[in-house]
Amino acid sequence: MKNKGVMFIISGPSGAGKGTLVKELLKYPENEVSVSATTRSPREGEIDGVHYHFLTVDKFHELMEHNGVLEYAQYCGNYYGTPSAQIDAWLSEGKNVILEIDVQGCRQIKAKRDDAVTVFIVPPSMEILEKRLRGRGTENDDVIAQRLLAAKGELEMAGEYDYVVVNGPIEECAADVMAIFKAENIKAQNRETMCELLGR
Ligand code: 5GP
Repeated sequence: MKNKGVMFIISGPSGAGKGTLVKELLKYPENEVSVSATTRSPREGEIDGVHYHFLTVDKFHELMEHNGVLEYAQYCGNYYGTPSAQIDAWLSEGKNVILEIDVQGCRQIKAKRDDAVTVFIVPPSMEILEKRLRGRGTENDDVIAQRLLAAKGELEMAGEYDYVVVNGPIEECAADVMAIFKAENIKAQNRETMCELLGR
C-alpha cells in the first residue's frame, strides 16, 4: 500500500509546550494525532479514545502479538504503546499523522519506519522553561529541579532529529511546524511522482 500522508514525530523536554503545540496543529483539518494505548487506569476527566485507549493487560498483549503497536514502553508498571491501525488508515488518506512521543519511542519507530519525519521542540531559554514548569503549579521545587535537569539531558538528543523548532509564541511555532509539514508533504508527493515517471 502506498502511503500518501506523512508521519511526524514530535518530541521535546517536559515544559517545552508540546501539548499546546499539538492542540494548535489540530486546528488544521489535514493533521491528526495518534492516541496511545495504555494499561493504566484513567485519571479523573480522562476519556477513553481521546486521552488514551485504556486497555486491559490481556488486550494490550493481544495488540502487541498481532503487530498492532508501532512501539511500546513500560512505565511505572504499566504498558504504553502506539497503535498502528489508525495511523496507517490516516496515512493512506493522505493525512499528516502526529505522534507526540519521547526519544526512546522515536528511535523504535524510526527503526521500523524510516520515512517518519522527526521534530524536536525546545523552549526559547532555560529561564522560560523553568517559568512554564512553575506555571503549572503542580510540582514542588525539588520536582522542578529534577525536571530541569532531565530537560538538559533531553536537549542533548535534539541532534538526532530532522528538525529543531523553538517554541516561543505558540502561533509562530505552529506556523514553523506547518512549514515543515508542507515541505515534507511536497517531498513525499514528489517521490511518488518520480517513481511513476520512471516506471518504478
Ligand atoms: P502518563 O501515565 O503520565 O499519562 O504517561 C506516563 C509516561 O508514558 C509519559 O512519559 C508519557 O510520555 C509516556 N507515554 C504515553 N504514551 C506513550 C506511548 O504511546 N509510547 C511510549 N513509549 N510512551 C508513552
